[in-house]
Amino acid sequence: MSSQLPPGPIGLTSVETLALGAVREACLIARSLAATIQTTPVVRKADDSPVTVADFAVQCWIARCLTATEIPLIGEESAEALAAAGPEMLESVHAALPAGLRPRHPNELLLWLNRASQVRSAPGGCWWLLDPIDGTKGFLRGGQYAICLALVREGTPVFGLLGCPALPQSGIPLGNIGQPAGVLLLGHRSSGAWQSSLSEAAAWRAIQCSDSGSIGAKIRICESRDLRHAWRGLLDRSLERLGVSAAPVRIDSQCKYALVARGDAEVYARLPRDPSYVEKTWDHAAGAVIAQAAGARVSDLDGLPLDFSRGVALVGRGLLVASPRWHTALLDALRNAG
Ligand code: AMP
Ligand code: MG
Repeated sequence: MSSQLPPGPIGLTSVETLALGAVREACLIARSLAATIQTTPVVRKADDSPVTVADFAVQCWIARCLTATEIPLIGEESAEALAAAGPEMLESVHAALPAGLRPRHPNELLLWLNRASQVRSAPGGCWWLLDPIDGTKGFLRGGQYAICLALVREGTPVFGLLGCPALPQSGIPLGNIGQPAGVLLLGHRSSGAWQSSLSEAAAWRAIQCSDSGSIGAKIRICESRDLRHAWRGLLDRSLERLGVSAAPVRIDSQCKYALVARGDAEVYARLPRDPSYVEKTWDHAAGAVIAQAAGARVSDLDGLPLDFSRGVALVGRGLLVASPRWHTALLDALRNAG
């Protein structure tokens, strides 16, 4: 793992510094896999979502790094799933780790992963929450994806890291954006949010959400590419009520939280069509703490704070992340348009 961390305005604890180094290295692992991912094995989960070599490799690596913190880890992937994916996947994950970071035998990776997969319900006290590759579909199509790690204390995310290897330093990524340097975002519930370039020497800059635009004006909204939780009809009706003109931008992964946190969008709306779908905490914890630390409000569609206390299952219906002014206005419009 890299021990050369960039200087920044943040007084990080030793545990947070360790986590930051782990996520930074994981970004490099994922990015080096991105170019050839189409030629490596992909397996499908029960809900038909893809799992790649990168999902397993990143979780193996971060789980290994976090062992030293002695804090339990809830992660999306599992040793059982990696074993079930077969020997070709296991070999590919082993080969994906940089030579100096690889265990001697591929089977050791199952032990690294086991640390995470044994924890499913909230362990009490503190725990790590990891989505090793959020937006795997985006990763596979050369779009946006994020490595998402949060520290949860008594059910509340207090520290979050988003590694976004395909996100440019600023702006909303549209179309072919070449090969951006990638960014790391960090949020501390109590003291603010920062962004740095993935490049080692980069300095951190404080980020703040945008409260610009007046009701009746143009605002920037982002939503998922997956229409199961991007219910455009409801969103359009709500915007019409506000007299707002906006063409929502569709982006994979928790990069949407990053865009609101750094003021490149005013709103991230996640409007589920299927009320029975239970959101996963790892899809939101890191992004939520960063967006909140940058001044945004994060709630479900009933205006309630997200409840991360149960472990994997996130309590609440849908999601609205926005600057305070837009959060109040849009929540109201969504209620009346629903
Ligand atoms: P996004 O990139 O915003 O579409 O979010 C990707 C995440 O959505 C995945 O990591 C899944 O865990 C999660 N997901 C899968 N199916 C659904 C669904 N029906 N509703 C909401 N989220 C889902
Ligand atoms: Mg995810």
